[in-house]
Amino acid sequence: MALISCLILRATIWCLESKTNISKWGMTARTWPCCRLRLASVAAVLLLLCLTTSLLGGLWLNAGCWGTRSDQIKLETKDLAGDDPSWGPHKMAVIVPFRDRFDELLQFLPHLHLFLSRQRIRHHIYIMNQADGLRFNRASLINAGVLLSANDTDYIAMHDVDLLPLNDDLNYSYPALGPYHVSAPNLHPLYHYPTFVGGILLLTKKQFHLCNGLSNRYWGWGREDDEFYRRIQEAGLKVFRPDGITTGYETFHHIHDPSRHRDQKRIGEQRRVQFIRDRETGVSTVRFRLLTTTKLHVHSAPCTVFSVQLYCNRSQTPWCEIPRK
Ligand code: UDP
Ligand code: MN
Repeated sequence: MALISCLILRATIWCLESKTNISKWGMTARTWPCCRLRLASVAAVLLLLCLTTSLLGGLWLNAGCWGTRSDQIKLETKDLAGDDPSWGPHKMAVIVPFRDRFDELLQFLPHLHLFLSRQRIRHHIYIMNQADGLRFNRASLINAGVLLSANDTDYIAMHDVDLLPLNDDLNYSYPALGPYHVSAPNLHPLYHYPTFVGGILLLTKKQFHLCNGLSNRYWGWGREDDEFYRRIQEAGLKVFRPDGITTGYETFHHIHDPSRHRDQKRIGEQRRVQFIRDRETGVSTVRFRLLTTTKLHVHSAPCTVFSVQLYCNRSQTPWCEIPRK
C-alpha cells in the first residue's frame, strides 16, 4: 500500500513539474495547464483512497493479531465457566463483600473472570450481597461467603469489588505457603502501611479456619482487615506478597469513587473496641440467613449472588444499627 501511495505521489509530482513531452501526448501548450490540473486531482483522489485503505487494513490486522483481544474473544466464547479441571487440582472461591455497588460490579465481573481465565486459574465468583437494615459488615459477609462456597473450592480470595488487577504477572494461584496478599502496600493505589492486608487476600480454606475467619464485630467501614492481620500472625502464618512487579501504584484500577457513601461513624464503645483483638467471634460464630441465590452473567462472566441477612447480637455490638439522622 505504502509503495503504491509513493508511486502515485511521485507521478503527481512528475506531472506537475514536467513541461516536456507535451507534443508526444498530443497536446498543445494551451490545453496542457488544464489537463495538468485534472491529472493532479485524479492522482490526489487516488492517493487519498490508497491512504484510507492502508489505514483500514492496518486497523484490521491489528485487531486480528493483538494477543489480548483475540484471547479475550476466544475465552468469551469457549471458557464460560472459568473452570477447567485440566488447569490444575485447586479451585478458588472469589468472595466479594457487596452492597450498593452495581456500577462497580458491572466492570469487576467480566474483568476478573477474563483475568483469571487467562491465567488458567479455576475459580467461581461469589457476590455476598448484604440485604438487611444493618450497617455494612465486610468481615461477616466474607465469613458467610466461605461457608456458602461450594466444596469443590479449596482456597479463597477475599476481593473488594472496586479493585481490578491490571498486571497479568499478579499471581492468584493456590497459596500453599501462607496467606498471599495480592494488593500489597507497595502496589495498592491508596493504602501503603506495612501491615495492610485489605483489598485482595488469598488464603487456603484451611488457613482461613485456622484464624477462625474474621471478627463479626466490625460494622461500618474499616479496621476489620487490621484485626485480621493479628489473627494471621497469632495463627503462626506468614503473609506473602508479589515479588518483581514493576507497575507500582498502576498495578490496580481502584474504581473507588469518593462520592460513594462510606459509613465511617464510630458509635459509643465501637471507638474503643475497634482496636481490640476479638477472641470470641469469627467464622465459627457468624449468624446469617440466606435469602436468595441467583446465578448471574455479565458479558458471559458467571457468578453466584448470595443475598444474606446478617444477625446482630445487640448486647455485644449495639453499634450495628444504622444511626438515625
Ligand atoms: N463495600 C460495598 N458496599 C459498601 C461498602 C463497601 O460493597 O457500602 C465493599 C466493596 O466490595 C468495596 C469493599 O467493601 O470494594 C471495601 O470498601 P471501600 O472500597 O469503601 O474501602 P477501602 O477501599 O477504603 O478499603
Ligand atoms: Mn475501595
